[in-house]
Amino acid sequence: MTSPPGSPQDAPEADDASRVLRRVFGYGSFREGQREIIDHVVAGGDALVLMPTGGGKSLCYQVPALVRKGTGVVVSPLIALMQDQVDALTALGVRAGFLNSTQEHEERREVEAAFLAGELDLLYVAPERLRTSSTLGLLDRGVIALFAIDEAHCVAQWGHDFRPDYLALSALHERWPDVPRIALTATATEATHAEIATRLNLGGARHFVASFDRPNIQYRIAQKREPRRQLLQLLRTEHPGDAGIVYCLSRASVEKTAAFLAENGVQALPYHAGLDARTRAAHQSRFLREDGLVMVATIAFGMGIDKPDVRFVAHLDLPKSIEGYYQETGRAGRDGLPSTAWMVYGLQDVVQQRRMIDASEGDAAHRRRLSSHLDAMLALCETVECRRVHLLAYFGQESGACGNCDTCLTPPETWDGTIAAQKLLSAVLRLRRERGQSFGAGHVIDILLGRETDKVVQHGHASLTVFGVGTELNESEWRAVVRQLLAQGLLSVEGDHGTLALTDASAEVLARRRQVPLRRDPERTARAGSAARGSGARRPSPAADLPEEAVPVFERLRAWRAVVAKERGLPAYVVFHDATLRQIAADSPSSLAELGQVSGVGESKLAKYGEQILDVLASGDSPVQDALEF
Ligand code: ADP
Ligand code: ZN
Repeated sequence: MTSPPGSPQDAPEADDASRVLRRVFGYGSFREGQREIIDHVVAGGDALVLMPTGGGKSLCYQVPALVRKGTGVVVSPLIALMQDQVDALTALGVRAGFLNSTQEHEERREVEAAFLAGELDLLYVAPERLRTSSTLGLLDRGVIALFAIDEAHCVAQWGHDFRPDYLALSALHERWPDVPRIALTATATEATHAEIATRLNLGGARHFVASFDRPNIQYRIAQKREPRRQLLQLLRTEHPGDAGIVYCLSRASVEKTAAFLAENGVQALPYHAGLDARTRAAHQSRFLREDGLVMVATIAFGMGIDKPDVRFVAHLDLPKSIEGYYQETGRAGRDGLPSTAWMVYGLQDVVQQRRMIDASEGDAAHRRRLSSHLDAMLALCETVECRRVHLLAYFGQESGACGNCDTCLTPPETWDGTIAAQKLLSAVLRLRRERGQSFGAGHVIDILLGRETDKVVQHGHASLTVFGVGTELNESEWRAVVRQLLAQGLLSVEGDHGTLALTDASAEVLARRRQVPLRRDPERTARAGSAARGSGARRPSPAADLPEEAVPVFERLRAWRAVVAKERGLPAYVVFHDATLRQIAADSPSSLAELGQVSGVGESKLAKYGEQILDVLASGDSPVQDALEF
């Protein structure tokens, strides 16, 4: 068995961890938080780890599993990704296998035999397997280095598919009291945190809360005008040829957006729950394996996808909560290179989401919760402060203005919207007096602008005192006013038709007891991007910032990688990350020893690919083709 925590004579040396990091993964240093977690688990302690998506959770159990005696057992609900995870570890020379329901009997037997013979460093197991006596019996007969419980929030979320299986994991502790357990999640609310600890019987575990900042991601939120065109503009100007994810709310808009991008020369694939399982799996696999594909998806896509070179995540519709938004945007830039989180949102999003909340099943408390999530999201959209400060504050972490978000790069102007708000609210107040009628934002704005539309004429609204009093603003400015009043809780929407209604707080504005500062939408949505470039900030592309002479070398290395990945049937990033190829191109090592110093080049990859890479580097000015003939 493993040594008890703190027994000095056979406890592994703390610095075994650094050696494994260097030798196996090829990394020179730990990321923030990793070192403490790894040392704690290596010494036999239980841990509950909160780290943002892309923060580097996997190493927190992979390194201890390699340092400690026996096999690290990883519980993960993401069956479809287990093969990829095992392939990626195998490429690093780590002995890994998995047990789940997709396997043939024979294949399972081989994995079990390897485990019993002590020939596995890591074993991935689907949570439902751990409820069967055969799996438990199997684990009893081998040596377990640790249990890692990935996506641990599954245990805390009501209605989560995997919840019953996760709840059963609390029994691991009783069966194997001496084996350390490490539970990991990117879900950060206090309530979830506490529930994970209770449900998984992790009362004595040390809690590690990493910084939730992802500094290489540039956050931007723009006003929605023509969302697909705006997206295309972003892709053409800032992310040509880059891999990325575009999130849409509905299946229909996923299909339309993917088709639109394809028509405009962007390689894009749709992904949503309405596609059959084979098509979904095929699209996911292409996204992981090919360079530069854009996945257009509903939120059904992305959990557990650890493709490191996703250069942008775009939202064409407003996410339902900041937590969801942060998990989704966190899928950009895991490799630490500059990446973009971009979103467009408009009044229609607010109306639509309110309607969905009203129509949702569940009790009043549930609807209140959904509402407060939406309010927090809207506050992020309308803030005039740094987006990152706002996001991190949501997760209870303090920070200063980041210099790498749209409001930092192009500070929005504010203006005194008190009078405009009064005009709008009094129009809404007058319309409310007509019972049984529903008037949405469009109609209210028509009245303020003095437009004699059919509806205005039909209802005699041209005779209202507010008719035509708002010509100082144009239609889009009025829509921005409505949106912001909704975000500030000074207005609400009701019913199926998005009828505007007053709130308790509206009265204060109408009674002139409250000022209403508003944000002025920047003229053009692309501004933040051009400002970023203008101010010398890095353009988020893998070749950017390389010295000029290194760019063709980098491109040759990528071409070489594409060939190798294809031959071996692996995703390109499993061969090497972009970040590693960049570093090789920049350093231009001339020997295997020098190459081995580059971050991301471990022993196994050095042995496998070292000579080929030196050949690619040495092929200098000769055409790419020459470099590829191995
Ligand atoms: P998470 O599971 O927290 O979302 P991952 O474990 O997938 O994140 O890690 C994200 C990326 O960061 C991976 O591509 C991983 O190889 C890389 N990474 C993790 N730790 C380090 C490190 N210490 N140095 C360099 N890269 C790292
Ligand atoms: Zn900022």
